[in-house]
Amino acid sequence: MAETEKFVANTRGKADIWRFFLLRETEAGKVDHSTGYCKEYKASVKLGGGTSNLNAHIRRHIIETDDNR
Ligand SMILES: [Zn+2]
Repeated sequence: MAETEKFVANTRGKADIWRFFLLRETEAGKVDHSTGYCKEYKASVKLGGGTSNLNAHIRRHIIETDDNR
C-alpha cells in the first residue's frame, strides 16, 4: 500500500451520489475508475459499471446513523 495515496473527485461522474465518493489517482497520474472511495472512511467500493454499489454503500451509512439516535 502506497503511503501517499491521492484521491480526486470523479469529474466524469454525473450521478448525484458521486459527491460522497472519490476516485484514486495511480502513481502514473491516471485515475482508477474501477473503484470508488467514500469520503467518510475511504472505504473502497467496487464499481460494477454503474452506481448501484455506491448507493448500497451509502445506505449502510444512513442505517448506522439511524441506529445511533
Ligand atoms: Zn463509507
